[in-house]
Amino acid sequence: MNRVANIIASLAAAAMLCSCGGEPAPRGVRVVLITLDTLRHDRFEPQPGKASNMPLTYAHAERGMIFDRYYSVSSVTQPAHATMFTGLQPWEHGITRNGIVLPKSIPTVTETMKANGFETRAVVASYPLTKRFGFARGFAGWIEDFSHNLSSNKRLWEDHWKIESGEFFEVGDAISASALDEINAASATKQFFWFHYFDPHAPYGAASRAGSVRKRDIMAEIPNGRASVDRVLGEAVALYDKDVAFMDNALNRVLERLKQDEARFETHIIVVSDHGESLGEDNSVGHGARLTDAELHVPAFVISPRVSPGSDHEVVASIDIAPTLLSLAGVEMESAAFEGRDLTQPRNDDAESPFRAFAIRRTFQNAGKIEQRLDGIDYPIEGLLFGAVDENGVIHRGNESGLQPDPTRGAQAHRGELISNFSDFTRDFERTEPAQAITPEDRRALEALGYVQ
Ligand SMILES: [Zn+2]
Repeated sequence: MNRVANIIASLAAAAMLCSCGGEPAPRGVRVVLITLDTLRHDRFEPQPGKASNMPLTYAHAERGMIFDRYYSVSSVTQPAHATMFTGLQPWEHGITRNGIVLPKSIPTVTETMKANGFETRAVVASYPLTKRFGFARGFAGWIEDFSHNLSSNKRLWEDHWKIESGEFFEVGDAISASALDEINAASATKQFFWFHYFDPHAPYGAASRAGSVRKRDIMAEIPNGRASVDRVLGEAVALYDKDVAFMDNALNRVLERLKQDEARFETHIIVVSDHGESLGEDNSVGHGARLTDAELHVPAFVISPRVSPGSDHEVVASIDIAPTLLSLAGVEMESAAFEGRDLTQPRNDDAESPFRAFAIRRTFQNAGKIEQRLDGIDYPIEGLLFGAVDENGVIHRGNESGLQPDPTRGAQAHRGELISNFSDFTRDFERTEPAQAITPEDRRALEALGYVQ
């Protein structure tokens, strides 16, 4: 044995002695929330005759509990995320559309984690979740870096945020690289991470660098007839699927790393989408204006030593995420009376009401908004609209004036109960703090992403 090899062998032996003779390092705790923007349920769950579009992520999910009837409280980003972080419904926390700042008076899961000794770090992938809207509260480490995707539009960025390109987001491989950096940087024994991916969101094909199709490109074909509309819609759907597959690969890197670290950390992971996407259903494309299965029914799963592998078919909702995160972390939020439940525990099933989840259509600053659909007709959007998901996963819609008629799937037996619920929600909504004004730059950025106020 030469001298260098000798020294290495001695060092290795010393290291072994140290680890055998000393106290073993205590196993830490990791709680990880991963939100996947705009991911439809049917792209994650295998469908009859069709495998999952996210086979790598799905394989991880199968180590945990898959909630195959999870419904978002909103079909836009900020309200859904605000509910996940506060445990309150949008008509209670007041974030009923993008562009509203989360009031400081409302405590978040992150602040509670931090107060209980968790090292808190996040990476977000799009503008509506940036610091200015309050989502960074409680995070000691925070990355909102859209430079990879923005590099080709640097001049637009510098020119007073004239971001007509809409490149105001980051793609999945860069998010995963930042997420792994944050994991490497964390040193506390208790760690809370939030990683947000944006790839399925329009423009379709932008994340996977496969193309760039937006709703307006499809709408532009209306004068050319239905066949042209359907051709471009088909391109959009194919690109959406490519972006989902791209995200699957990116996310897999982080899930693999978390799995590798399980010997050192008791690891609890929640993966959930904030809302879905209409891809032609009822001539609709995109998300935000509707409370439909395509836009509200989304993937959710929990990987944790607290759950047994399998599928749970109960209807669950965004409001359940906050109590589940805190339960997994073993901490309590002071004075919190959550309406949601800890998803790692069986439902306490004495509820008489068949309604398991509620939702609200995004609000608008100005009246007279319309939804443009592929049939060329502009559909008016008026007033508040709520949704209620029953135990069978049927979405009922309405407000305090009544239910939207649906002769095939009506909730006639519970009509009075629903209208009463929706009246209560309206009263809560009217009591919440008025929306804080956003700057013209914020407004322009949100409009560039398609979030016209
Ligand atoms: Zn979103």
